[in-house]
Amino acid sequence: MPLIFLTNDDGIQSQGLSALAEALAPLGEIVIFAPEQDQSATGHALTLDRPLRVNALDARRNTVSGTPTDCVYLGTRGILEARPDLLVSGINYGGNLADDITYSGTVAAAMEGTLMGIPSFAISLDGRVDCDFRAAAGFASKLAARILAQGLPTGVFLNVNVPNLPPEKVRPALITRQGKRIYGESVIHRLDPRGRKYYWIGGEEVDFVPLPNSDIVAVRQGHISVTPIRMDMTDHPLMAELETWNL
Ligand code: MN
Repeated sequence: MPLIFLTNDDGIQSQGLSALAEALAPLGEIVIFAPEQDQSATGHALTLDRPLRVNALDARRNTVSGTPTDCVYLGTRGILEARPDLLVSGINYGGNLADDITYSGTVAAAMEGTLMGIPSFAISLDGRVDCDFRAAAGFASKLAARILAQGLPTGVFLNVNVPNLPPEKVRPALITRQGKRIYGESVIHRLDPRGRKYYWIGGEEVDFVPLPNSDIVAVRQGHISVTPIRMDMTDHPLMAELETWNL
């Protein structure tokens, strides 16, 4: 029976994680290492400045006092004896689309799985209120079965985003490229009760560039989006150009 490693960045209590575990249970043995608390937007951070605690809640669910990447690192290198056959991160509350994947703890966990040589995908629901995880859970199961059967190329993982719609309204999966967001420029400035300045960042999502075949366009049109992402971020065409700079 395949060993399926689940994690997320929203924390162990997330309904998205429970929906994922329930959907994938028929496909193999499930083991979960998830953060104790919400670790959204922690990216690919590792905890290096304090000890990590792992708490086994039951036979398959473990909490980690760290980031999503800590969960994958500890679970696969330090605790599990067998190497997982598949790693799935999610189902995240909120899409991980376009440039947002560089901030995402959900996506970073799939990156860490990929670095470990485990076929991996991240899956996110493009909604934060009245979340309906049924379509995402169903698609996760279909995709997991396919990857268990035929694997993924080395150094590549899949970033999946699902519209927050009832299953009958969700349109078929499209293979997409990473899109492009237009971020707001505003930072909120406030004064605390003692008259000192403080700030809020990252609240505003303004718009996106309507790039053809992009993840964000597909999801906004009601499609499931599947983007293959390479760990090698080298811009190969620019290498030749930089050679001419004679640095
Ligand atoms: Mn999250």
